[in-house]
Amino acid sequence: MTIYRATVLDTPVDERAVWERPDVLRVESDAAIVVRDGRVAERGPWTDIRARRPREDVVDLREGVLLPGFVDAHAHAAQVHVLGRPGMPLPQWLEECALPEEERHVDVRAAHAAAHDAVATMLAAGTTTALVFGSHLAAATEAFLDAAVAGGLRVTAGPTLADRGVPPTLRVTPAQALAEGRDLLGRRHGRDGVRYAVVPRFAPACTDDMLAVCAELQGLAPGVWTTTHVNEAPDEIAQVRELFPGDPHYVGVYDRHGLVHERSVFAHSVHPGRAELDVLAARGARVAHCPTSNVRLGSGLFPLRRHLDAGVRAALGSDIGAGAGLGLLAEAREAAAVQQLSSDDGVTLTPARLLWLATRAGALALGEEEVGDLSVGRSFDAVWVRPAEGSLLARLLAHADDATDALGRVVTLAGAADIAGVWTRGARVVPTCAEPPGR
Ligand SMILES: [Zn+2]
Repeated sequence: MTIYRATVLDTPVDERAVWERPDVLRVESDAAIVVRDGRVAERGPWTDIRARRPREDVVDLREGVLLPGFVDAHAHAAQVHVLGRPGMPLPQWLEECALPEEERHVDVRAAHAAAHDAVATMLAAGTTTALVFGSHLAAATEAFLDAAVAGGLRVTAGPTLADRGVPPTLRVTPAQALAEGRDLLGRRHGRDGVRYAVVPRFAPACTDDMLAVCAELQGLAPGVWTTTHVNEAPDEIAQVRELFPGDPHYVGVYDRHGLVHERSVFAHSVHPGRAELDVLAARGARVAHCPTSNVRLGSGLFPLRRHLDAGVRAALGSDIGAGAGLGLLAEAREAAAVQQLSSDDGVTLTPARLLWLATRAGALALGEEEVGDLSVGRSFDAVWVRPAEGSLLARLLAHADDATDALGRVVTLAGAADIAGVWTRGARVVPTCAEPPGR
């Protein structure tokens, strides 16, 4: 048993509360969190808990703030090595960056290196749970699952599936996708904290036969998630219209195959029609908003207000590697900027709402009841933001008016270098023994 002493900020509320009230931040300054068997067993004021537990080990995290681990609802593990490329339109990005990089993973050493770096990058940015598009190649996806288990990252992932519209190296036939998916799902789903996701790349890269296989795979076991892209860019939407002339719209293609439901997450949704939002809402499906990617690829401004009005729930995704790659804090600050640019339609994203989007919203989208805030009973998945001594953020935090103001500064200014510690299931995963000491 260990007691963590810290200023703890979290947002233990559901969608209704967060959009009805601007400030849903729970603040406990000088709190004690008692962790037993990886879970929050007790929490409360430090003086009360210490008086009752005078002999337990204490980890002092009083500098900075302790937040719940971040939940990334959309990332491509195989694209970690193309992070930081200049922005460009989606078709060019796929052709010049994303797909050539994914092809390199036929070399198993490249796949292992990317898997390791993806996990390390995400954890270092404070991401403790993620919904991940694996490689098109099943063996490379398995390398990612191994790296996630070894690193302590909680993942829902599966191989990305495409039977057209991508280079031949990355194509699989529907029969092959079914056989490989069945095998990988049978061996990995529900074991070592891994959950399986069925991942059609997007409708332009999947025939009806492939989408039918996706439907079959998602029904193989309880708790299997389904994730794909939708309505990201105008070119892509026009392509879907051409390839699936019988369907009413893009979401309708997935819906016809039974892929739109409460265990599915659709990345982007930048250009949805009202009828599409109604289908997403009626099925209980969620959307992963990826603001840094949308801005860098020039995809557009995410219409959060229209999603909320239609009853569609959203979380945040990094979209590694099209996104800026600095994790969910970077996504949160970009989300706020996108809403500001959305003029009359923009939703005010307070620091509390941004923290909620980066944590609890993702947990709800992934059905991960163990994470999302630091309430009693949840897993101790946490991020300690402690800016380096003398840094701008450290100086500004010293001048913050209150906890909400401090959180606003953290969201706006913190980078991976300010993340001093990350825990999943009660185990410290950043820094790890392999990293140099000093933080
Ligand atoms: Zn993506």
